[in-house]
Amino acid sequence: MVHCAYGNKQPGGLRRKYLREVVRPLIAVYRSDMLSTRKSVTDSVGHRMPNSTPKPNQVEVIKAESDWLAGTIQSELEGDGDQFAKDSLQLLKFHGTYQQDDRDRRIELRKLGKGKAFSMMIRCRIPGGRMTAEQFLAHLDICEMLGNSTMKITTRQTIQLHGVVKRDLRETIQRINSIGLSTLAACGDVNRNVMCCPAKRADPIRDELNRLTDDLAESLAPRTPAYQELWIKDEDNGEVMQVAGNRRPAESVEPLYGPTYLPRKFKCGVVLPEDNCIDVYTQDLGFIAVVRDGAIIGYNVIVGGGMGMTPSSKKTFPAIAQRMAFCTTDQAIDVAKAVLLVQRDNGDRSDRKVARMKYLVARWGVERFRKEVESVLGYELANCTEDDVRGVDDHMGWQAQKDGLWSYGLCIENGRVRDADSIDLKSALRELATTLGTEIRLAGNQSLIFCDITSNLRSSVTEILNRHGVRASEQFSLVRRYSMACVALPSCGLAITEAERRLPSVIDELETSLAKLGLNADRFTIRMTGCPNGCARPYVADVALVGKAVDCYTIYVGGSLLGNRLAFIHRDMVHAEQIHDELAALFTVYKRDRRIGECLGDFCHRAGSDLLMKQCDEILNA
Ligand code: SF4
Repeated sequence: MVHCAYGNKQPGGLRRKYLREVVRPLIAVYRSDMLSTRKSVTDSVGHRMPNSTPKPNQVEVIKAESDWLAGTIQSELEGDGDQFAKDSLQLLKFHGTYQQDDRDRRIELRKLGKGKAFSMMIRCRIPGGRMTAEQFLAHLDICEMLGNSTMKITTRQTIQLHGVVKRDLRETIQRINSIGLSTLAACGDVNRNVMCCPAKRADPIRDELNRLTDDLAESLAPRTPAYQELWIKDEDNGEVMQVAGNRRPAESVEPLYGPTYLPRKFKCGVVLPEDNCIDVYTQDLGFIAVVRDGAIIGYNVIVGGGMGMTPSSKKTFPAIAQRMAFCTTDQAIDVAKAVLLVQRDNGDRSDRKVARMKYLVARWGVERFRKEVESVLGYELANCTEDDVRGVDDHMGWQAQKDGLWSYGLCIENGRVRDADSIDLKSALRELATTLGTEIRLAGNQSLIFCDITSNLRSSVTEILNRHGVRASEQFSLVRRYSMACVALPSCGLAITEAERRLPSVIDELETSLAKLGLNADRFTIRMTGCPNGCARPYVADVALVGKAVDCYTIYVGGSLLGNRLAFIHRDMVHAEQIHDELAALFTVYKRDRRIGECLGDFCHRAGSDLLMKQCDEILNA
């Protein structure tokens, strides 16, 4: 049993004690003009890190003063304006929504003397990406009736809706809750959607993985009553709607998080060693199952992964998680809570750029981090076993579930679901979900899997896809199938350049070059993001194109299909029009110099930056 420092009190006492001992001193320090002494120190792996500093950043103050994330959202929801105030934008993230504007329209609107076209992005929390056909169909309805008529399957196995205007926000969140899902903690400084391999098999090991995923999602979920009060309350009679997934009493507070929640977002995932399809090493906290005699006996726990970085800030960096300790299945939830508490109480609350848990792990070293976790637990953990990730499967195409039923993984390029250009993907998915009526699982590669399909319905799947002009997964080239891109423009406020709208044309060109080189049967990952924030997990990919300036990218290479090695910079500031030539040169060198059976990432890693660049230059200048 984990004993949170403030968690064994009654809610009122807990809150007063936490406010008195933690929050008020933080705010007092913030408001004073005390300047911290910010000497740099070097962390355990050589990065320069800021020394601990007591001055909390502005978001910490907003959280502390928000009354459990309520802030002034309620009154703003009732106001006429089309946008929320600055402080509310920080709090709304915890409720699963971001305010955005259509960046494609900024210039046009400015010329007309108008302001930005604001709307909300709303993200659902779907542990392991498992949902019913009805829930999926409801999302399609919502995106058509209240959103911009498209939806995005994300890299964390959930769904984002875009283009919801402020006046429709409450209805949208209410509708999502009415189908037994929630948006609470899909964003914000809390544990986000828990990832787990989505493959469906009649297998007790898979059942155990899903059980841990659900337990993690429930145990690490925030409890704020503000969520129900703001979004679920029935305005007609003032009652709180009783909906699945939101049965907590409205008066409960936050025994795990406290009023300031975590210093930054927190991500976790669960995998089997043979199938790291969720990139477990990119998570703050990962559980790698240890299987003996056909059963999971525990997990190797890894900590401190994270993709985001700011190139202009030398103290930021992407990191893969480090192996910390082994825990039994019974210990897993307590270990997760203990890890979260160590980060809550020791993560950097002064500078959000270095507030992720990866910086704490890097600053302390994994051994000290483990000791702090054990101190919270009150017992020592065993060392990791030798078990580690060793394979990856994207689960696309037909897969036998071993119970006489079938799953069909359908590639959704960059996760965007819409009807456009004679490809009626959204209509096809609607018809498939209606016809099959069975479980749907969202995969960590932005695609989805229809589950529990009887043999006699397999031909219907093919027929429906054909009729709507949708390519079956088997018709995707491998390079497209293993590609991912974040949203970026036009809706992401942080995007520097294009990603989702550019990667398809990059792949079009690459397909031709790879075919010419005879590399079209090679499996490798290629990922594009519109900024260095890393939402498509670029820094562990074989090839990554990370937005650096308008229409310019940094090319990273040398990650791995297995997702357990960081890539390095191959070229910087590559214009969009030069991407293909750069990649074609890289593939030419790879084809010429690789060892038998050597995959792209391993080849680049072995060659190293200098040699690879020199050889590519020779090809480009020939
Ligand atoms: Fe936006 Fe950057 Fe994330 Fe892409 S990686 S969605 S551009 S924050």
